[in-house]
Amino acid sequence: MADGEAMDIEFRSDVVVELIKSAASDADVLWAARVSTKGENSLAEIEADPERSKGLINFLMRDRHGTPFEHSSMTFYVKAPIFVFREQMRHRTFSFNEESGRYRRLEPVFYVPGPDRKLVQEGRPGKYVFVDGTPEQHKIVTAAMEESYRQAYRAYTEMLDAGIAREVARSVLPVGLYSSMYLTCNARALMNFLSLRIKREDATFPSFPQREIEMVAELMEEEWAKLMPLTHAAFEANGRVCP
Ligand SMILES: Cc1cc2nc3c(=O)[nH]c(=O)nc-3n(C[C@H](O)[C@H](O)[C@H](O)COP(=O)(O)OP(=O)(O)OC[C@H]3O[C@@H](n4cnc5c(N)ncnc54)[C@H](O)[C@@H]3O)c2cc1C
Repeated sequence: MADGEAMDIEFRSDVVVELIKSAASDADVLWAARVSTKGENSLAEIEADPERSKGLINFLMRDRHGTPFEHSSMTFYVKAPIFVFREQMRHRTFSFNEESGRYRRLEPVFYVPGPDRKLVQEGRPGKYVFVDGTPEQHKIVTAAMEESYRQAYRAYTEMLDAGIAREVARSVLPVGLYSSMYLTCNARALMNFLSLRIKREDATFPSFPQREIEMVAELMEEEWAKLMPLTHAAFEANGRVCP
């Protein structure tokens, strides 16, 4: 694999999110909340009165009684560029396990922004917008990234071929390299993440995340909404504020 042009490098513009396993439902929120007034045996009531259940979840969300939302667990597989993982791993209430660059040869899969990715930042810090790039700008970005990725991966393989340890050789690889990990979180941690990593003008506290972590967050939210529809609806109805 010495010749960069002949290297089997993959360029992609997407992220992958798969729900691997979960123990997460609206009922988990309800029994946790009702133990405070009903004692432990409150599961039967949840089935019996869905309207009250919806009202209780909405009350908990609105008044920011957050702990009942912690009795759930979702594990996701995520494949995304390393610069996304750097942001994702700032969320300390998640648990992470990522593939190792010390114990395995890293695959040549690199991120190149797709045609829909806005490329140009306008405005000043704290008050800016991103606007579309021209076709010419997209061409420049694609060519520059692909060339730079090829060069970097060629240097990496040259070092490995010369017997250098993977943990040393990996220094030359850029943050556009894809990595993969499992992450596990509860619904409260996820809501905090979604409130910060998805841009919504109608949110009580709008956030302005980088588009690529937003792509991960959007896919996680889709999976979560299917598992906990009442909780998700209450999150939306209350300005997407983490309780
Ligand atoms: C748009 C955007 C821009 C950003 N820019 C930068 C940047 O330029 N530089 C930078 O370094 N980071 C940046 N960040 C990261 C940011 O500072 C947070 O680290 C990240 O969003 C995680 O948020 P969190 O602490 O609420 O999440 P988590 O770590 O998941 O914590 C969840 C909640 O738990 C509580 N909590 C967790 N740990 C503690 C603790 N030690 N003490 C008290 N309470 C705790 C807090 O209530 C917290 O909100 C940015 C984030 C966003 C969304």
